[in-house]
Amino acid sequence: MLITDLRSDTVTKPTPEMKEYMFAAIVGDDVYQEDPTVNALEAKAAAMFGLEAGLFCPSGTMTNQIAIKAHTEPLTEVICDQTAHIYQYEGGGIAFNSSASVALVQGERGKMKPAQVEYYIRPLNNIHFPETKLVALENTCNKGGGSFYTLNEIAAIAEVCQRHNLALHLDGARVFNALVAANENPVDYGKYFDSISICISKGLGAPVGSVLLGSREFISRSRRIRKVLGGGMRQAGYLAAACNYALDNHVERLQEDHRKAKAFEEILLQSNYVESVLPVETNIVIFKLNSMYTDAAFVQALANENIRASSFGPQMIRFVTHLDITDEMMNHVIQVLKSLNKQAVTV
Ligand SMILES: *Cc1c(COP(=O)(O)O)cnc(C)c1O
Repeated sequence: MLITDLRSDTVTKPTPEMKEYMFAAIVGDDVYQEDPTVNALEAKAAAMFGLEAGLFCPSGTMTNQIAIKAHTEPLTEVICDQTAHIYQYEGGGIAFNSSASVALVQGERGKMKPAQVEYYIRPLNNIHFPETKLVALENTCNKGGGSFYTLNEIAAIAEVCQRHNLALHLDGARVFNALVAANENPVDYGKYFDSISICISKGLGAPVGSVLLGSREFISRSRRIRKVLGGGMRQAGYLAAACNYALDNHVERLQEDHRKAKAFEEILLQSNYVESVLPVETNIVIFKLNSMYTDAAFVQALANENIRASSFGPQMIRFVTHLDITDEMMNHVIQVLKSLNKQAVTV
């Protein structure tokens, strides 16, 4: 039976063309920095974002955690939104890996305002406080329902960081969704961020792989940390090839995923079991159910129709559109969503 999996854009499988490209890769030992395909991916991604160097890693959690460790020291602090993946979904890794504390900002749908960031910067030369070192943004914001910062909004936060001598990191797990939606050029990001983590295993459809980007000096320190964490891979070029293929072929098509997410939003807004839908801006749809269904009952009702979705908190459901969602699947899901409306009982 065909399963429509809307739980995450991480569930995509390599396309036949991608697999062919992977098997044809020329590889070497990447710990010796001798894998030409990994080297090409790192250089390509760095150039795309206007930064000097890149580091290929097995996951976005690792690229984020390496960046945080490279930017901070024990007894220092990271500022991020309260919903940030680096805080909520990386297992407490900031404490474990970096012995740093976190200041949580109450942003709007995952987005912080420059004044909020500035408010959380600690006074200097006061032994009571941790020392603020790093600000981290997420683009797009997962818990914000795929909301995104525009370049102008990023520039305003970067200005605060520069004034206070703080590093600025981007968790860009879905940065290509933001770039496509805002119709912006990644090369401009390099002007504002000291480091950027990009994931190729989400909407871009590679089976594995994230790249950390930054200055040559930052990446060479990061390479040491990656080795310590056990992330030094050998003939990783087979995986990097999938990422190269995805960067060349799967970026522009993200518009298609955004269009599909919008189609879900439209249906959900007309459904009598929905209380509210977070405005859909990219490929994530987060909605709240009214009392007709609990989130568990709703997920089960979808599962009965071979549709997988995530419960995203009490009464909350998340759908994520991606490369493997066909038009046929879309039609099926829309039909099921319509059928879940409960009719008023007539006597
Ligand atoms: C998925 C994701 C990551 C990285 O996740 P991995 O599964 O470790 O690759 C980081 N940040 C955000 C916002 C994400 O959605």
